[in-house]
Amino acid sequence: MRIEVENLTAAGEPFEHTYRAEEVELEEEGARLVADAAVRGSASKKGETVRLRGEIRTEVELLCDRCAAPERRPLAVEFDTSFIPQEAEAVKTENVELQAEDLLLSAYEGGAVDLDELAREQILLGLPSRHLCREDCKGLCQKCGANLNAGACSCEQGEVDPRWAALADLKKQVNGE
Ligand SMILES: [Zn+2]
Ligand SMILES: [Zn+2]
Repeated sequence: MRIEVENLTAAGEPFEHTYRAEEVELEEEGARLVADAAVRGSASKKGETVRLRGEIRTEVELLCDRCAAPERRPLAVEFDTSFIPQEAEAVKTENVELQAEDLLLSAYEGGAVDLDELAREQILLGLPSRHLCREDCKGLCQKCGANLNAGACSCEQGEVDPRWAALADLKKQVNGE
């Protein structure tokens, strides 16, 4: 959805839009939307600067960083983002050597703010940087890929073949350990 800048006032206009889960492509490994994303807020304009404030509510499926078990959880993100026209951003960047990101500003093009892109970015920002299915997740066995939360796999019983043990010792000697 695009929010036309022309119609905005300093007082702010309410906006509301619901994205279907498949419309919001996060392009993030280990996270995807599993429910609609409802975006609502208010858009105001001061000079050429547009400010969008509001909230996004959805539900995400996250994969555990260690064992890849999926988990659904609700996600609510509040945003307060200001946009300046693309042209103005270019000028500023040249003259003052400031990037829009440094000013916490985004840019809009063609007289409208792209709500789709804002929603996607804000959801990404709202994701936890690290996610474990549980604090003490044991992860997967490096050898056989078994989920160690379900119990030890046979690799873990750990009886090293005596011939390999001898070889390991020899290697240590060679390396002077
Ligand atoms: Zn896990
Ligand atoms: Zn194993």
